[in-house]
Amino acid sequence: MTQVPYLLTPGPLTTSLATKQSMLRDWGSWDSDFNQITRRVRERLLAIVHATETHECVPLQGSGTFSVEAAIGTLVPRDGHILVPQNGAYCQRIARICRVLGRKLTTIDYAEDAAVRADDIERTLAANAGITHVALVHCETSAGILNPLQAVAEVVARHGRSLIVDAMSSFGALEIDARATPFDAIIAASGKCLEGPPGMAFVIARRTVLERAEGNSHSLAMDLYDQWVYMQKTTQWRYTPPTHVVAAFDAAIEQYLREGGCAARGARYAGNCRTLLSGFGQLGLRSFLPAEIQAPIIVTFHAPRLPQYEFKSFYEAVKSHGYLLYPGKLTAIETFRVGCMGQLGERGMAGAVAAVAEVLAELTAAA
Ligand SMILES: *Cc1c(COP(=O)(O)O)cnc(C)c1O
Repeated sequence: MTQVPYLLTPGPLTTSLATKQSMLRDWGSWDSDFNQITRRVRERLLAIVHATETHECVPLQGSGTFSVEAAIGTLVPRDGHILVPQNGAYCQRIARICRVLGRKLTTIDYAEDAAVRADDIERTLAANAGITHVALVHCETSAGILNPLQAVAEVVARHGRSLIVDAMSSFGALEIDARATPFDAIIAASGKCLEGPPGMAFVIARRTVLERAEGNSHSLAMDLYDQWVYMQKTTQWRYTPPTHVVAAFDAAIEQYLREGGCAARGARYAGNCRTLLSGFGQLGLRSFLPAEIQAPIIVTFHAPRLPQYEFKSFYEAVKSHGYLLYPGKLTAIETFRVGCMGQLGERGMAGAVAAVAEVLAELTAAA
């Protein structure tokens, strides 16, 4: 077998061999062995954000967006009103979910290279008593911006509103502590910083909020209240669980805890991010965001200044050197993205920098 390329993407990511190998077994979804795995995964996810006393972990089949939609649909009453500060594609996706589900929506719009500001949210909440919820994206994966979760959480709590956080690309790598940061729900997925395979996501929801959420959901399959009640009663998933994914996610979480949990994972990604920024900098590649708001998760770079640059052929060339890049997601300028997450092998991010250096040299020679 030829070497499968490493994924320098916002997910799915390159998983460890042990995580892949844990998928070589079939599980009965009714069987107590499998249901113990589900229980362990739920307990450990709660513990990662120190929410065991206050919150419940409700897993859901599907990609991350399924759980974002399920959280909005289940936790926001049908006559609720959601404020979405927007600085990228994942914020826009939440706004779109609100429109599709018929929840009243207000947005605050930012440029693609600016972080959300807590004082803007403060002003909007003060002026609009009807807003019931704020939905914040913690790390906006489209440009790689870190939004100020703590400051926003404090403002939302002070105004007595409910905070829903899309922490899809930060959960497990950037510290989130439910004891210090008030939130009603936080959403993430198996295939991001916890380095499992994609296929399940989960919502960490405040118990008192979840208990009051019966009948809010527009959907049967996406009803987190129903999923939670059923799971508490039976220990099983409502409807077929992604058994192999859950087992592999459990294995990935086990490795995560052995590596040293959030501090170690965050430090590894921060190291990858530094290697990437300095290595690409030496190759003349400029990053898009100011350093103060750059999350150590994914980095947007301006396209190389080569006459015939075109993302597709650059991508193919880097792929032939063993790494998969990701296209940019900005509207106005030509960019590409490089993820700092996942198992990058023995050479780590330095291997990726070397691969891109070789490709740039080839392209320059050909020009
Ligand atoms: C990955 C991601 C999602 C979910 O995307 P899916 O393609 O549905 O897995 C949502 N929000 C953010 C910030 C993400 O990075």
